[in-house]
Amino acid sequence: MKHVDVLVIGAGPAGLSAALSAHGFGLSVLVADENPRIGGQIYRGLLDDPPRQRGRILGADHAAGEALLQRFTGSGIVHLPSARVWQIGDDQVAYLSSLVREPAPEPVGARFIVLATGAQERPLPLPGWTTPGVMSVGGAQILLKTAGLLPPRDAVLVGSGPLVYQFAWQICRAGGRIRAIIDARGPVAPLPLLVRAVRAMRAPALLGRGAGLLAALRRHGVRRIADAEAVRISGKSRVEGVRYTLRGAERALETSSVLLHAGLVPEIGFSSALRCEHFWNREQFSWQPCRTVWQESSRSGVFIAGDGGSIVGAEAARLSGQIAALEIARRAGRLSERERDGRAEPLFRQWRRKLAPRPFLDALYPPPPACFSPSDETTVCRCENVTAGEIRRAARLGASGPDQIKALTRAGMGNCQGRMCACAVAALTAQTTERGLPEVAMPRGRFPVKPVTLEEIANTWQA
Ligand SMILES: Cc1cc2nc3c(=O)[nH]c(=O)nc-3n(C[C@H](O)[C@H](O)[C@H](O)COP(=O)(O)OP(=O)(O)OC[C@H]3O[C@@H](n4cnc5c(N)ncnc54)[C@H](O)[C@@H]3O)c2cc1C
Repeated sequence: MKHVDVLVIGAGPAGLSAALSAHGFGLSVLVADENPRIGGQIYRGLLDDPPRQRGRILGADHAAGEALLQRFTGSGIVHLPSARVWQIGDDQVAYLSSLVREPAPEPVGARFIVLATGAQERPLPLPGWTTPGVMSVGGAQILLKTAGLLPPRDAVLVGSGPLVYQFAWQICRAGGRIRAIIDARGPVAPLPLLVRAVRAMRAPALLGRGAGLLAALRRHGVRRIADAEAVRISGKSRVEGVRYTLRGAERALETSSVLLHAGLVPEIGFSSALRCEHFWNREQFSWQPCRTVWQESSRSGVFIAGDGGSIVGAEAARLSGQIAALEIARRAGRLSERERDGRAEPLFRQWRRKLAPRPFLDALYPPPPACFSPSDETTVCRCENVTAGEIRRAARLGASGPDQIKALTRAGMGNCQGRMCACAVAALTAQTTERGLPEVAMPRGRFPVKPVTLEEIANTWQA
């Protein structure tokens, strides 16, 4: 077994920054990521593309990561690409499988672990969302970033969140087209939005970028349908169209491709399986791990940096990785408390500035109501084919939370381990039993957090 001071899981902005900082304090660091390249979500494929092309299509946010990636590449830090961590034992030993045809990497024992596993898109269970021809906006963006593939020119983007507009803009810049954006976000409360907008003025650059992006979409003639309700996808063996209600009138758009997005939620597979404490974040509509200001979870020695802790964006994700590394360095005896605090001060200042617009963005793009209250006939658990109606029935029979619902219906028992249905299952249980969502227990995560074959498990234990 390998032993390091710090194991970082995830090579996105948070993980790379944490690794570089910890390495800078003389600690031994290993970074594992299931992707074949470093960069995480936002900087995916960044070092592979011809720079001019990527700048033209993906924009300045994407290109801004180049210096970080180059620094990491030249640092000598051990990086395991295509290495998926699927379990962390009580003894802080992590088990990995290889996503390429190679023997699995040996287990890694670490004094400190930084979970920098990022976010996932919040599932949007609309009627028809399992029809071929429907995929997530993030999935389509990965195809553009890694393979230069554009969605069909009649694609309709449905949902809520900055990524919808960002991706529509990237498609236009790459020479593609879309038929429309259907804005299906939940009700926006004007007064709280205004208050948050004033606070967000502390980060005018980001607000300016957002406004510029919307103006560019208008210039490209992208049609945006606001206030759409009861959105559903039609077509049996393939997508044929999208239907929706607009101010009481039934409307329809023909399309062969629907791209869904309903915001981001932290990837909490590890923190949940490690039994870290979590809370329901009402602003971001998601469960999030409780953390100290140093990004340490309720489990000593396990830090959670970046979007895996709370949705903060790439720049704040970087800072949180650096902040976590300062506390790790102090605990490892490389910094005194005073030195740690001195170095942390400018980071916290930047952190507050970067986070200033976040409450505004959260309030501007509430998730579509379908995320929490899909219609009875809608499939909620895609792995086990369980509908919202079956979950409501199980809750009426007395199932009080996701774990009981799982036992009665198999919802959450499939390959994705509840990643696609946990939120809807908890919300449906809460509504049916007339409780608030935070009162319903969070689904209990279990290892392995990602699918792994029995052969890999056997090989790992033998190693
Ligand atoms: C699909 C998607 C698209 C996005 N697109 C944009 C965009 O265009 N512009 C923008 O500003 N923001 C975008 N974001 C948000 C942005 O990516 C984040 O704010 C930022 O990247 C967070 O950085 P991070 O380091 O916390 O996580 P990430 O960059 O997400 O990195 C997490 C890394 O952890 C790895 N990982 C996860 N689990 C495991 C495991 N079990 N074993 C090994 N490795 C693991 C992943 O492969 C990934 O590389 C996107 C987010 C998502 C989910």
